[in-house]
Amino acid sequence: MLDTILAKAEAVFEDIVEIRREIHRHPELGKEEIKTSSLIKEQLAKYGVDEILAPDGTSVIGVVKGRKGSGRCIGIRCDMDALPVLEATGLPFSSENSGVMHACGHDLHTAMMLGNAKILADMREEFAGTVKLIFEASEEKQPGGARAIIDSGTVDDVDVFLAMHVLPTEDGLGKVGLKKGSVTTSADEVYITVHGKSGHGSQPQEAKDAILAASQINILLQQIQARNINPLDTCIFSINSFHGGVATNIIAGQCKMAGAMRAYTEEARAIATEKIYDICAGVEKVSGCAIDAEVIKGYDACINDDKIVDALASAFEGTLGPESYYFMKEPLGFSEDYSFFGSMTGKPSVLMFLNAGHALGMEVSTLHSPDCTFDEAAMQHGMAAMTHSVLALLRKMM
Ligand SMILES: [Zn+2]
Ligand SMILES: [Zn+2]
Repeated sequence: MLDTILAKAEAVFEDIVEIRREIHRHPELGKEEIKTSSLIKEQLAKYGVDEILAPDGTSVIGVVKGRKGSGRCIGIRCDMDALPVLEATGLPFSSENSGVMHACGHDLHTAMMLGNAKILADMREEFAGTVKLIFEASEEKQPGGARAIIDSGTVDDVDVFLAMHVLPTEDGLGKVGLKKGSVTTSADEVYITVHGKSGHGSQPQEAKDAILAASQINILLQQIQARNINPLDTCIFSINSFHGGVATNIIAGQCKMAGAMRAYTEEARAIATEKIYDICAGVEKVSGCAIDAEVIKGYDACINDDKIVDALASAFEGTLGPESYYFMKEPLGFSEDYSFFGSMTGKPSVLMFLNAGHALGMEVSTLHSPDCTFDEAAMQHGMAAMTHSVLALLRKMM
């Protein structure tokens, strides 16, 4: 089986590189993935999947049914949208849609997932159960595409969800990063408006200074992590926009601020949310200003299922070998709406990472940067690892 999967990943690799470059050349922002979505459907049909579903908007699901029996259902998900970034990689297949770029590797994700479709469709005589290949639209743009896919009912029968995100890095090309528990943060937005009373700078007693109250709120907010959250847990929170006042001699009647809050656990997230409202209510009382505060819930933290992580590690160990994966020491600081596949459905889910290097002759960069590149060779390892993961879980659950 190992030889078969590796050989199949190798055989489809050239196609996948071509598809990846085609998608990279024509990046599309979230909810606008018209070309990408039709490329996916065309390719899935060509690779002979059993069914192609349209869960919502430009999202697509390919279904491959094992011929050995009904069994369970594994959902493997990738994202397919690009970012509003002006590409500066100088690659020969650079974006032809100026100001839009695949700077988060979703072009590799989509191409690899199509490769998985081909490999699994070719191998369907050898397994029982169903694989749903989920191509999610608009991951980068809140509210993300995951919720609509889940709401559509098209993944109701999925027993376990898997996904893989590429990482630009100098370390071990093609190695898969695994971690139990939290792997990404939640991402919420915080908006606060302080309504004071403007007045002459020489008569503060007649006014209610919105800038002073807002400043006090900002300082107090920084105590949440220091004094309310368990020191072994983390909440990343900063006010990143702060606007108020019109002139040097007029006390500001209004001040608006906004920021981002991230947490690795629901506990830390809930405490921080509550404290934001408490602090605003407290400053409202002492300042005499009226304060509107709103914490808008964004993506949840991705919490990997420990048992599935163990099952994947032993599958890699027994097939691709101990060098093919590693356990990550720390979670990542970004967020992903893949989290909803676990949190909204209550089904176990795992987000893996793929060490995907950088293009030859380029420095390693970070995701979302205009000079972010990858080594396409990583895709072959990614496809093999994902196929092994799916087949190991289907066997385990028969
Ligand atoms: Zn991204
Ligand atoms: Zn991404």
